[in-house]
Amino acid sequence: QGPVVIVGAGQAGGWVALTVRSLQPDRPVILIGDEDHPPYERPPLSKDVLSGKATPESTYLKPLAHYAESGIDLRLGSRVAAIAPDDRTVTLSTGERLGYGQLVLATGMSPRPLVIPGADHPRVRTLRSMQDLAPIRQLLAPGHKVVCIGAGFIGLEIAAVAARSGCAVTVLEAAPAALGRVVSPEVSAALVRRHEQNGVAFRFGASVISIQDKSGMAEIELAGGDSLAADLVIVGIGGMPNCQLAEAAGIDCDNGISVDAEGRTSEPSIYAAGDVCRQFSLALGRTIRLESWQNAQNQAIAVGKHIAGVPEPYADLPWFWTDQYDDNFQIIGAPERWDRVVWRGMPDDDKFTAIYLDNGRVVAGNTLNNARDIRPLRQMIIDQAVVDPAVLQDTETA
Ligand code: FAD
Repeated sequence: QGPVVIVGAGQAGGWVALTVRSLQPDRPVILIGDEDHPPYERPPLSKDVLSGKATPESTYLKPLAHYAESGIDLRLGSRVAAIAPDDRTVTLSTGERLGYGQLVLATGMSPRPLVIPGADHPRVRTLRSMQDLAPIRQLLAPGHKVVCIGAGFIGLEIAAVAARSGCAVTVLEAAPAALGRVVSPEVSAALVRRHEQNGVAFRFGASVISIQDKSGMAEIELAGGDSLAADLVIVGIGGMPNCQLAEAAGIDCDNGISVDAEGRTSEPSIYAAGDVCRQFSLALGRTIRLESWQNAQNQAIAVGKHIAGVPEPYADLPWFWTDQYDDNFQIIGAPERWDRVVWRGMPDDDKFTAIYLDNGRVVAGNTLNNARDIRPLRQMIIDQAVVDPAVLQDTETA
């Protein structure tokens, strides 16, 4: 058995390495990452690390020393430039070649760039990695004007931190609602109202056509003639899986690296895990590419177990959370459709649960400051339960 080589030392890559070594302590494991930090969790970057409540180091999966102590050859600041499945090698950007027995692609994703004139203005920023933080934090000064382009999770989380930092925040969204494809219009409106109560302004149906420099500030021009000046522009318009290495090696990709139930790509000795990969979900009955903390960890652990010869099926139901202001919002399930939403509580309450039904069956749920409802909801979705809406609505029912 040759070494296990892992490309991408993020959350998924880190968990594959830790899992293989814990099950096969003698197996050589090489973890290659192009960042300068050991594997870390990204969710706090747009929350407590951005606001200064948590340190960057608190996001590390394990302290740096742990990798050497566990016999993991962690190579930071190192980029894989190509993979060659035929002779089982990877080539680093330095030209160094490494052989592998099994290869794992855990390359994550990259923020989708804004493709308009002026998008390279120095005040236009995206947030994906630790190195993106310093310039953003520097510009979150009280009184500064912050514009978030995109009302997705990252845009909304940064809007919340910026508002709490005393910035004047505007969110621009091309669609008619925030989080439009993920939650119901009523849930979306409830979350937007909570931002508005914190002073954030929203403009839906807003199409940004260019960004110009105005005395160092970014001047955002909208279709229709309006413009907004900003000290900081955050672009949060989604991401693209980093499939380039796989595509160049002829591995099957479909908006993500396609993998089977074991996490194997179309090349049997190459696996993928995390944001970059697309897998059939037994729970949902379709292939899905998830961008979530839970998936990055558990899918990677499942791949590590397969590689170490102790396979265990990966069948998590999609689960996602976000923290904005003092609110915790969670989503369980990822339905393609629903025909009714049942509320436990009211949209304007500080705490509610919204339960999505399709043909009477529970297919998803959202909780605001009500995380205790997630576990029973998960079970109902797995069981494809048909529950009387009156019972679901009754907040006295556990
Ligand atoms: P990454 O963590 O992106 O790791 C991939 C790594 O591979 C990166 O370090 C990359 O630089 C490296 N790499 C890529 N190509 C190469 C190469 N050729 N050679 C070497 N290295 C390479 N999820 C939630 O569930 N809840 C949240 O609240 C939440 N908040 C988030 C907030 C932010 C700001 C971000 C960015 C993400 C958030 N997520 C959240 C999503 C979650 O963090 C991701 O799903 C998770 O990080 C995915 O892990 P990954 O290992 O697949 O990818």
